[in-house]
Amino acid sequence: FLVLRRELPEIPENSDISPSEFANDPDPSVFQKRYMKEIRELGKGHFGKVILYLYDPANDGTGEYVAVKSLKQESGHVPESWMKEIDILKSLHHNNIVKYKGCCTELGGQVVQLIMEYLPQGSLRDYLPSRKLGVPQCLMFAQQICQGMDYLHSRRYIHRDLAARNVLVENDSLVKIGDFGLSKYIPEGKIYYQVREDGDSPVFWYAIECLRESKFSFPSDIWSFGVTLYEILTRCDSRQSPPEKLREMMNSPNEQMTLLALLKMLERNLRLPCPRDCPHKVKLLMDQCWATDPEQRPSFKSLIEQLELIRR
Ligand code: ADP
Ligand code: MG
Repeated sequence: FLVLRRELPEIPENSDISPSEFANDPDPSVFQKRYMKEIRELGKGHFGKVILYLYDPANDGTGEYVAVKSLKQESGHVPESWMKEIDILKSLHHNNIVKYKGCCTELGGQVVQLIMEYLPQGSLRDYLPSRKLGVPQCLMFAQQICQGMDYLHSRRYIHRDLAARNVLVENDSLVKIGDFGLSKYIPEGKIYYQVREDGDSPVFWYAIECLRESKFSFPSDIWSFGVTLYEILTRCDSRQSPPEKLREMMNSPNEQMTLLALLKMLERNLRLPCPRDCPHKVKLLMDQCWATDPEQRPSFKSLIEQLELIRR
């Protein structure tokens, strides 16, 4: 990681790096804290907090807006998983994946921040409820998510947290996948990743085998995509959200029994219902994504093709 220039000790005369070299060729991925003007909070998740900043080195308001993610608990050491999230995002280059811009590191304090492009419309959860989006536009967004996910899978990463809250909206015709905080690399020859630590898991987006055996794979992302597709077609209406709806279907008031009750219900082949104006063919797609056998689920490539046919 690159260190903030301001935090560097005075550079001695005989140093290999002269201050002018710094000034002439600044690394565009190093953001200096002193030029960052906080605008407002954009969102909070389980692990991180994202704040909108204006990065304005010229100090005349001509700077650029950036979204800056930092860990919620700003305690002593920086966990390994946080560095992984940054490295993964840095290595991804696709039109439907949020762009990495750089880092901001504080020496000593070690508060490392991840700097990304700012998507003005926020997540699908912020965007969808207030618009009257037609089904064709919903399906266009869904297809773009599949395109970003197909790329991610081609790089052998699984996302593990695909949900409307983690899909960001650039404008009416472009969405990008964000939040790679739970992403994992699946080495060649392996088919799943078994999770050890399991704290605040997004269980209502989890595939049956994730609940049963904590096994995460390419097909378990497909399941979560099915849930995300459901969210899009309900326009992220909070009364029909996956946790609300699935809890209602399990009728188990006991919070502690949630996981077991959810698994039992899925094992009885019960699934989220068809959203109100959702075309039958799209519901069939969701149900394919929610096949009990992971091998029966479609790939993102196949979903792209099927969505293309439905959209025509
Ligand atoms: P967490 O890992 O804590 O869930 P996320 O990366 O999902 O953090 O970000 C939390 C929220 O912040 C998102 O749901 C979204 O509303 C907002 N957000 C995140 N990244 C951006 C961005 N690049 N532009 C605009 N809003 C963002
Ligand atoms: Mg998130």
